[in-house]
Amino acid sequence: GRVADTLVCAYPNAGLPNEFGEYDESPEHMAGLIAEFASAGLVNMVGGCCGTTPAHIRAIAEAVADKAPREIPQIERHTRLSGLEPFVITKETNFVNVGERTNVTGSARFRKLIKEGDFGTALNVARQQVENGAQIIDINMDEGLLDSEEAMVTFLNLVAAEPDIAKVPIMIDSSKWTVIEAGLKCIQGKGVVNSISMKEGEEAFIEQAKLVRRYGAAVVVMAFDETGQADSFKRKTEICARSYKLLTEEVGFPPEDIIFDPNIFAVATGIEEHNNYGVDFIEATGWIRENLPLVHVSGGVSNLSFSFRGNEAVREAMHSVFLYHAIQRGMDMGIVNAGQLAVYNDLDTELRELCEDVVLNRRDDATDRMLEAAERWKGEGGQKREADLTWRTWGVAKRLEHALVHGIADYVEEDTEEARQAFDRPLHVIEGPLMDGMNVVGDLFGSGQMFLPQVVKSARVMKRAVAYLMPFMEKEKEEQGLSGYSSAGKILMATVKGDVHDIGKNIVGVVLQCNNFEVIDLGVMVPAAKILETARQEKVDIIGLSGLITPSLDEMCHVAAELEREGMDVPLLIGGATTSKIHTAVKIHPNYARGQAIYVTDAGRAVGVASKLMSENGRDPYFADIRSEYVDIAAKHAAGRGGQKRTALAAARANAFRSDFAGKPPVAPKTSGLSVFDDFPLEDLVPLIDWTPFFATWEIKGRYPAVLTDNRYGPAAKALYDDARRMLDEIVEGKLLTARGVASIWPANAAGDDVRIFTDESRSLELATFHTLRQQMTRTAGGRANVALSDFVAPEGSGVDDWVGGFAVTAGHGEDELAARYARDNDDYNKILSQALADRLAEAFAEKLHQIVRKDLWGYAADETLSAEDIIAEKYQGIRPAAGYPAQPDHTEKDTLFRLLDAERLTGIQLTESRAMLPGSSVSGLYFSHADSHYFGVGKIERDQVEDYAARKGWDLAYAERWLAPILNYDPARVEAAE
Ligand code: SAH
Repeated sequence: GRVADTLVCAYPNAGLPNEFGEYDESPEHMAGLIAEFASAGLVNMVGGCCGTTPAHIRAIAEAVADKAPREIPQIERHTRLSGLEPFVITKETNFVNVGERTNVTGSARFRKLIKEGDFGTALNVARQQVENGAQIIDINMDEGLLDSEEAMVTFLNLVAAEPDIAKVPIMIDSSKWTVIEAGLKCIQGKGVVNSISMKEGEEAFIEQAKLVRRYGAAVVVMAFDETGQADSFKRKTEICARSYKLLTEEVGFPPEDIIFDPNIFAVATGIEEHNNYGVDFIEATGWIRENLPLVHVSGGVSNLSFSFRGNEAVREAMHSVFLYHAIQRGMDMGIVNAGQLAVYNDLDTELRELCEDVVLNRRDDATDRMLEAAERWKGEGGQKREADLTWRTWGVAKRLEHALVHGIADYVEEDTEEARQAFDRPLHVIEGPLMDGMNVVGDLFGSGQMFLPQVVKSARVMKRAVAYLMPFMEKEKEEQGLSGYSSAGKILMATVKGDVHDIGKNIVGVVLQCNNFEVIDLGVMVPAAKILETARQEKVDIIGLSGLITPSLDEMCHVAAELEREGMDVPLLIGGATTSKIHTAVKIHPNYARGQAIYVTDAGRAVGVASKLMSENGRDPYFADIRSEYVDIAAKHAAGRGGQKRTALAAARANAFRSDFAGKPPVAPKTSGLSVFDDFPLEDLVPLIDWTPFFATWEIKGRYPAVLTDNRYGPAAKALYDDARRMLDEIVEGKLLTARGVASIWPANAAGDDVRIFTDESRSLELATFHTLRQQMTRTAGGRANVALSDFVAPEGSGVDDWVGGFAVTAGHGEDELAARYARDNDDYNKILSQALADRLAEAFAEKLHQIVRKDLWGYAADETLSAEDIIAEKYQGIRPAAGYPAQPDHTEKDTLFRLLDAERLTGIQLTESRAMLPGSSVSGLYFSHADSHYFGVGKIERDQVEDYAARKGWDLAYAERWLAPILNYDPARVEAAE
């Protein structure tokens, strides 16, 4: 309340209610507290609320008796509006954008949404306005067939619950007073009424103005009187002057809360009287600002170009020219489509000239010339542009902030150069406006108002700006020996040996860089030795390890043990798909007593963790917290483990799943041998892309396509999706990626938990054996089966012939080149996008090839007709389990599969020592065709099965335990010790 220019009153409760709903604070205690307020000069009046008694009031009165009341400050006269956040209009505020799209009369789309009652999507329209730079949003529900009052109230109440919209002040727009008053009752903060006027005479005008004042809003006053709307300079200025006098003298309306709208009318309509409308408005604006102190001037800009409907390029240009001149004369607010304003200086010179002729009424034939030329600009540049005239007129620091928050890289070099010239040193540009801007991004992200794709786009702007400044900093260093740029901390990041997963790590890297951390990215398949060596040489503050597949868990333990052995204590962050807090606590943490392993859930958390580690108070308090948490987790885990022994392997086998081979006999395949696809057409893959995981990669949670219109994620998701589709078109058209794949179907029969593959239909020569694992969870009698994949194949000796297929596909050839190309441009956003798309195409290829197998190569479902949606939902008969997934957690089964398919040679996919597939965008698996086949998870297994499996694979027990580590239901070390 420090700035309030009215009285400040404090009348607290006697504390918070206790469990009986009573108040415990004594009169003396309360009086003491309030006396402090009074001594500090904070209050004019004091009293007591809930729980206070006459005794309290007496004590308070005595305590403040000798204290002077607060002095009411003189605060500067500015227009102070607010949504959830204050919005103060000062001289430095160049031009206030009022978002116009939430208007049923001005936007067909918004009207449709409101009429259909789709308020959720309508909210997105409001949100987009704010994101595009609207500082106030205008809301109008005036439509004949609507209950405007009800629509206004419903919509405003929904807006109130959306902080990213409600943060800006609201302009309630209606020609009906009842609608305005209904709206005024809903809004928080201080909004604006649009509008009142003298069209029904002075009396009604004064009464409405008084009410606006009572509701605490500012007001737009239209230049309108009993005889109609003002169209000439003379009428506009006369009416505004008369309104001003009434408002300030009769109503006591603060002049800074008055915004005049002197009516923008259409020009170039072909009617001669209209030609001077632009000039009249601009001149009237000048007069009002000079003669009516403290007021503002606004207008609905789109009216101006009404006669060029359908020609967005020309309309934008006209608006831009009009604003350019009107702003110079003092127009400081406008109802505009904030996302769609051309930059005056960027306009084609010929078009600009034509517009100026029309707007400024400079020649008699201006309209004709414009009409004639207009066709030529139709469509051109008419697409939506992120550029927005107004933000380009702001100061350079504000411009950089805007560019960072909105991820607009178009002007970053010129703005950075301007900032460089304005500051003493290039470093100060980084430490000043750029870091300030990134802090805004950080806050918005932290408070859930921005999402990863947007942050990565912001980072691109930051990186370009820094890259621009680098040579200047180098030069400074050489010539003057000045120190360079110091980061918040140095972080080494690597995907561990044997693993190729990259996307998540790249996102984390970018987010960290945005927060001023220096990131050294060693890429994928990085051996422990290399990690340690780099950590030493570069004196890094933090190491981050990433991994996608289960064998990487073991490799992470190894890295931790190596760090310990070499006496290092750098904190070790653990992240990636298979990692978990429990694994980190139980397995990695104990290897690294000197340092600390810390599990990081997602990219969004990485910055928080890194900042805590670099905190000024040192990392020890944080270490201590993590340590006690991990000790707890490990203890709970140890207590749980070994308690519940599972079904013995023999019993589990006796309870195997029984596929109905008699009722649904296997179908013989139409082809044999390898089917190779060397350069599969990418355009055929696009329709089968499953977009939902794509959004998950960017930590946007929601199902496609609903996510595109989601209340929270919608706008971010839509922008990301549009970028992705655009790049996808480029990839497909330019053949920037090559899809290669191979599939085959072999004669096969189950032999126990194994699946034997034969060379030919004589089934006399075995080509290979796939080994499967069986569930050992305890089942109730007559309940569910203990399943293994071999249960879906007819057993040997049953007299039933059966078949099993296998495949390997990749869309990753070209992926690294594409990513590198973007990386060279400092464009992490597109780099990560390209990787995510390659991954999507690989999954789509797996889906497509599966369809080809079902319908043609095998043909067991030749008549299948499923929509793309149903295919993506895997509603077809048969499955394609992948090694390393829950139905077969053993990654080494890929060795057999790749050998049978000759996959390395035919597709160019390689297996790493952990059996990750390289390129990363690759998929492989087996095909089971039986109608009863289904996905399941093996779950934890006992030692009897591990021994059995080891014997079948020709492994020794310890080796088997290593590959099966994630699913062991016992601790091999303890069992060994006991023995
Ligand atoms: N449409 C998804 C497909 C990947 S997830 C995408 O584009 O990302 C589905 C695939 O994962 C299945 O086709 C199968 O290959 C594998 N899978 C899922 N559950 C499995 C399980 N329990 N065991 C083995 N493989 C499984």
